[in-house]
Amino acid sequence: MLSRFEAIEGEAIGQIAAAKTLEELETVRLRYLSRKGELQQLLRKVGQLPVEHRPRVGEVANRVREAVQSAFDARRRELEAAEQMRILESEKIDVTMPGRIWRIGSLHPITQTINEICAIFTDLGFEVVEGPEVETEWHNFIALNMPPEHPARDEHDSFYITDQLLLRTETSAVQIMVMESRQPPIRIVSPGRVYRRDEVDRTHSHTFHQVEGLLVDEDVTFADLKGTLMTFARRFFGEDVKVRFRPHHFPFTEPSAEVDVSCLMCNGAGCPVCKHRGWVEVLGCGMVHPNVLRNVGYDIERWQGYAFGMGVERLAMLRYGIDDIRLFFENDLRFLRQFV
Ligand SMILES: [Zn+2]
Repeated sequence: MLSRFEAIEGEAIGQIAAAKTLEELETVRLRYLSRKGELQQLLRKVGQLPVEHRPRVGEVANRVREAVQSAFDARRRELEAAEQMRILESEKIDVTMPGRIWRIGSLHPITQTINEICAIFTDLGFEVVEGPEVETEWHNFIALNMPPEHPARDEHDSFYITDQLLLRTETSAVQIMVMESRQPPIRIVSPGRVYRRDEVDRTHSHTFHQVEGLLVDEDVTFADLKGTLMTFARRFFGEDVKVRFRPHHFPFTEPSAEVDVSCLMCNGAGCPVCKHRGWVEVLGCGMVHPNVLRNVGYDIERWQGYAFGMGVERLAMLRYGIDDIRLFFENDLRFLRQFV
């Protein structure tokens, strides 16, 4: 029996040393150290020996059990430490690895264009004022010299919410709101979204954007309006752009004009963009109609003003050579990324 103990000691310690993983080590433990393991089985037999042999064999048996147990404990600590290292290695961040490239978003071309228009007018002393997209009929039509029977309202097919509330058809509504709450001098531009019941096609959308401007002060003339808009056109389209004013009619201004700039695509020579005219219309403007000033309670003997309005999509399309307004609203990243 003594030799059997010594044989088990040698085997067990050899296998413990050879175990390369905690799983392998566990197999060795089950084989020798568990209740049903070989060593425990043998230890139980010590009690069955004749009394005179028990002390000698018991001593060897205990020594062997302790030796195997301590060899097992030592190997387990080694393997656990190795496992810990392996986990740490696998979780280590390799700072030399190239980083993932995150695409940085950018402002929508319409927002960029609005910001640029507003920046030019801010430089000229105008203040940016925004207003609600749901407006009263008073702000949107009546105060702007368009009473209910006015034919101009047919051109502004609108989305009504109630009899008196509608989605604004132009940002001029903000002008009325500002004039009702302040005394001149007033110099504002109001950018924003507007809505009309237009069929959607290459040049029309039911939703689009405008920037409208208003100046009210003493001794304001049409020459001031021309100077302001020519300065704007040169800053926005380039120093070489030519500008012309054509007489027109708007209910809220008198006299009124439409403003053309020389075609950016053909430099005035004629091309499909300008329909071979050499000019493209960019905005409408005029001197504020006395009725509008009266509607907000201003003294028309003392105050005069001018107003103008431009379509943001149209300006962006002319400037970038975009031939379909729907591109702005389709959210196609291939289109939008060109404006980063
Ligand atoms: Zn042209």
